[in-house]
Amino acid sequence: MINFNVPPYTGSEDEHVLSAMRSSKISGDGPYSKKCQAWFEGELKCSKALLVPSCTHALEMAAILIGVGPGDEVIMPSFTFVSTANAFALRGAKIVFVDIRPDTMNINEQLIESAITAQTKVIVPVHYAGVACDMDVIMSIADRYGIYVVEDAAQGMMSTYKGRALGTIGHIGAFSFHETKNYTSGGEGGLLIVNDAQFVERSEIIREKGTDRSKFFRGLVDKYSWVDIGSSYLMSDLQAAFLWGQLEKVNEINASRLAIWDRYFSGLSALVGRNILVTSEVHKDRTHNAHMFYLKLKDINQRTQMLDHLKTCGVMAVFHYVPLHSSLAGKLHSRFHGVDNYTTAESERLIRLPIWYGMKEAQVDHVVNSIKEFY
Ligand SMILES: *Cc1c(COP(=O)(O)O)cnc(C)c1O
Repeated sequence: MINFNVPPYTGSEDEHVLSAMRSSKISGDGPYSKKCQAWFEGELKCSKALLVPSCTHALEMAAILIGVGPGDEVIMPSFTFVSTANAFALRGAKIVFVDIRPDTMNINEQLIESAITAQTKVIVPVHYAGVACDMDVIMSIADRYGIYVVEDAAQGMMSTYKGRALGTIGHIGAFSFHETKNYTSGGEGGLLIVNDAQFVERSEIIREKGTDRSKFFRGLVDKYSWVDIGSSYLMSDLQAAFLWGQLEKVNEINASRLAIWDRYFSGLSALVGRNILVTSEVHKDRTHNAHMFYLKLKDINQRTQMLDHLKTCGVMAVFHYVPLHSSLAGKLHSRFHGVDNYTTAESERLIRLPIWYGMKEAQVDHVVNSIKEFY
């Protein structure tokens, strides 16, 4: 059986986790957290990177920082993970969905402007499969209307748009280190990127239960106290130690995933070329991180048949997302602006193939041959 996902594990996590366990500081912002955060600030070229318990928490922090509240509207695609919307619905905002583009499954940047109202506060582009949204267009719309941009870069670590790391282009960015993502901090974890200087100081306060504890640790105040609302949005240093082991091998993991992606692509190119199958297109001005290899089949019936066929071949393939506007909570907290030309139809024919660090060439070939056999 070829698993759909195997969490990334390089072996160098062990010594770091042990060393963290034996140290005298394992709570948040310990030595490993500081190392990881400094690494991200250097590698992604951003001014503030904060480890958090999950990407969901990073998005919640973004909503608090921007001051999203009841009556505000937040524009995003409906084809995304629950947390993208839930983080803003939690603050009482109305979610406004616009349609996606079929070539990338990302938000259609051309449809955003007509969805803007006097209540619009935030646009949330989701970089699906680690392939960037059209950020130039999105940033210029946001600029013109005085709206904030929060990048859901959960899937986008090590991807770029015009040479810039995803998550560093909008006012705030959010990454995930869940076990299904390219890098993990031991199963769960996330990263908040604060690009807009006005949010930096408050991001540390909100993350430290609404206190100025970070300033206290830096010796800037002589005691810390409750100064704002907040919560506990820190990652344990044990998890940061696990993540550090992966950051040491960051390029090896990335290269290995890209090689698997390319092998899928060339193995299936004849079928993709004959328009039997469609896969993601990566525009020349952006690089991707092989987070996902997906295919789009004829329709939902063919997809069900394909998933069944792959299962009999010992291949675990999956699909996602059920568009949020058609979900139970989505009906309460959102509306779909404009026509759903692609969101539902494209999501119904999409399947994701196994792709993980350490997957063997022979396993990729087995998946490719099983798909060919189906046709
Ligand atoms: C995985 C994912 C999230 C949630 O990440 P967690 O770290 O599990 O909270 C949010 N948005 C998108 C697009 C994701 O893929």
